[in-house]
Amino acid sequence: MCGIVGYIGQKEAYPIVLKGLKRLEYRGYDSTGVAIIQEGNLQVHKKKGKVAELEEAVVGKNMHSHICIGHTRWATHGEPSDRNAHPHLSNNGRLAMLHNGIIENYAQIKKELLSKGYTFKSDTDTEVLLNFIQDIQDNNKSTLEEALRIALKRIVGAYCILLIDQDDPETIIAARKGSPLVIGIGKGEHFLASDASPIIEYTKEVVYVNDYEIAIVKADELILKNLGNEKQTPFIQKLDMELAAIEKGGYDHFMLKEIFEQPDTIFDCLRGRLLHDQHQIVMAGVDNHIDALTNASRIMIVACGTSWHAGLVAEYMIEELCRIPVEVEYASEFRYRNPVIHPGDVIIAISQSGETADTLVALESAKEKGAFIFGVVNAVGSSIARLSHAGAYTHAGPEIGVASTKAFTGQLAVLSMMALKMAKAKGSISDERYVHLVNELASVPEKVKEILTDTSKIESIAQQYKGASDFLYLGRGYNFPIALEGALKLKEITYIHAEGYPAAEMKHGPIALVDENLPVVFVATKDMYYEKVVSNIQEIKARKGQVIAVATVGDTVLPTMSDNIMFVPEIDEVFAPLLSVIPLQLLSYYVGIYKGIDVDKPRNLAKSVTVE
Ligand code: GLU
Repeated sequence: MCGIVGYIGQKEAYPIVLKGLKRLEYRGYDSTGVAIIQEGNLQVHKKKGKVAELEEAVVGKNMHSHICIGHTRWATHGEPSDRNAHPHLSNNGRLAMLHNGIIENYAQIKKELLSKGYTFKSDTDTEVLLNFIQDIQDNNKSTLEEALRIALKRIVGAYCILLIDQDDPETIIAARKGSPLVIGIGKGEHFLASDASPIIEYTKEVVYVNDYEIAIVKADELILKNLGNEKQTPFIQKLDMELAAIEKGGYDHFMLKEIFEQPDTIFDCLRGRLLHDQHQIVMAGVDNHIDALTNASRIMIVACGTSWHAGLVAEYMIEELCRIPVEVEYASEFRYRNPVIHPGDVIIAISQSGETADTLVALESAKEKGAFIFGVVNAVGSSIARLSHAGAYTHAGPEIGVASTKAFTGQLAVLSMMALKMAKAKGSISDERYVHLVNELASVPEKVKEILTDTSKIESIAQQYKGASDFLYLGRGYNFPIALEGALKLKEITYIHAEGYPAAEMKHGPIALVDENLPVVFVATKDMYYEKVVSNIQEIKARKGQVIAVATVGDTVLPTMSDNIMFVPEIDEVFAPLLSVIPLQLLSYYVGIYKGIDVDKPRNLAKSVTVE
């Protein structure tokens, strides 16, 4: 995920693009760059860091141009750095391109280009696509547009690209598949951007470019074509939105937007890895170290907060499927308690930001003692990603809301694939069960979408209980960590005290809290513990507690015993957490909203905890 802006027209282009990039910084902010053409000379300025840092770096430079493209990056291939920042230059120095997305078959194309003598200044998939276009153009003596069309037919993945050619300073060529692109239509000028926020102050007339379309954009002309070179009629729409709403994609808060993004972010995380037709899982970080992982005598998972809950789910998965003992550790404890670590021990570190200070220090000392470190991180090129021997990114895109939602389900998706892959390699599950679980995992994005189609029930439950002073969250098995996560989410963004407990354990203490005022959330989907959880619900009802259940669609028992119920689709219990957490995220969100709390920035919390 990243932000893209382009301008061509009579005005000074760079200030317009710069301002637009600032509006898009929520989409990515690890490096920034722009390209302009000045009297036939292509110039690229780029810098690691936020847009403001690029702005400072070009102070005093001649940025005069009527054409400019700019990018704020959220790295997927190659760490955030000056050289990996976009736009990239082609080997012949004539083309500059920027890109939002992932080219999945870039490695193969890069190999071909290297054998032809091409060199690469960055680690990005983007630079590979750009030189691929140059190569086609040079070989076929074709126009840039034709070369782009041929290239796009060969690549696999997602993209929105902007491309300029120093020999044609009157044109920006754009194309998209999977990543968004809006073109604003002004008088003798055009604006291009990932969303309408950089455009809205100049024009309300926009065209949303469709997948597999190429746009040839000049100051006073916009031509749209499909990949078959057939002209398409641009569908011009009128924007009727406030700027702030657009940045949040029409949602009231980033948290809600991120909750609703989950069908896509989970899909993105699985894409290219879970080849479900072939019943195969491809994860380079796991493939390359499969022996270290499967031969481990034990695995330690080190994390904090929500990531620690993902670790607990992984403990259940890895122990059940791979038969390897797993311990889940709070990084802050692990780093100080002088844990026993032997060379060859495997540590899985989980962190959204990849900068969590406690986790980082814990890993440094474990690495010194000879442990093998596997990072599960969202932010590409972050400190934990760099420190790890191997890893897998969650590819959830920037998470802005302080309470983690889509990063958590991304972590679960990665850990699920890992556990399945290791189990398969180890032969610790039957082929039949493996195939079944691969199919179940592939079904998750659609099932999350189903949960999100109607949230009215969850909203009404939130309204009913917004005045409660305490909540209890209970679950067993795979749903126990989700009870903990539900309670944490509620504390974070509603300031209501909540505790998560294993449902059976509540008899050993917390049951004393139960009275008619206590809402008790049961995560009670259909699994091997179901009957036992039903008994636990009876115990709460017998003490007049208010029962709110997360249940499997079609359950006819729980509706008769619960005061309120939230349904999720049926799925194998191993992946139940990926679904049952969604209503709990929404419940916390709506309670927070009813209480008038700034859910994106709740008090006392920071997004990335870079202090111990
Ligand atoms: N895959 C590209 C990169 O890592 C683009 C990432 C983005 O969408 O910002 O540079």
